[in-house]
Amino acid sequence: MNKGKIIVLSAPSGTGKSSIIKKLLEYPELNLGFSVSATSRAPRGAEQHGVEYYFISQEEFKEKAEAGDFVEWEEVYPGTCYGTLKSEVQRVTDAGQNLIMDIDVKGGINVKKCYGDQAITIFILPPSKEELERRLRGRGTDADDVIRKRLDKADYELSFASQFDVNIVNDDLDKAVSEVMQIIVGK
Ligand code: ADP
Ligand code: 5GP
Repeated sequence: MNKGKIIVLSAPSGTGKSSIIKKLLEYPELNLGFSVSATSRAPRGAEQHGVEYYFISQEEFKEKAEAGDFVEWEEVYPGTCYGTLKSEVQRVTDAGQNLIMDIDVKGGINVKKCYGDQAITIFILPPSKEELERRLRGRGTDADDVIRKRLDKADYELSFASQFDVNIVNDDLDKAVSEVMQIIVGK
């Protein structure tokens, strides 16, 4: 049986990964299944448990990490962990789907190390730092200190862009979606 592809999208928070993935999931011909990560952060806006994330406590996160339940996990922000569950990769690949992941830069690089050519890592770039800040504020879901932490981390994250297979600028959302689609189909 052919192994499904693993498509990784990474970018500084607020660049538009979730928006791009939401649109990609509207195309059944791409046969994509979203990898729902576990996180110890609280739901944001209308996010639902089991849809955007599995929202668990920091204690439960640690227990799962110790039990070896994750393919990869990172403390993306101090005190806030995110990880890809082995069960999630299994769920999507068992369904015969290609797996699409929204994970941080280090997680993306680790997935590439783990899965090699089966994985394609895509780094999404914001058009500028000013636009990134506008998007984070415009999203209207995070407190000011949370936005600050995310912006402070952006330069560090951007320094990893060259380690990804492909870089795409998310200026016009539809254009970015179509560029990612071409990569998924063409791989
Ligand atoms: P991420 O998942 O990378 O944190 P989101 O997808 O939540 O980012 O996008 C952050 C904000 O930017 C959202 O309010 C979204 O509607 C907006 N956004 C996404 N892509 C674009 C774009 N190309 N142009 C303008 N606004 C965008
Ligand atoms: P947010 O809180 O904005 O949803 O996500 C914050 C950061 O955590 C983003 O960079 C997102 O890609 C990353 N992230 C989400 N899920 C995972 C995961 O399972 N593993 C890793 N390493 N990072 C993740």
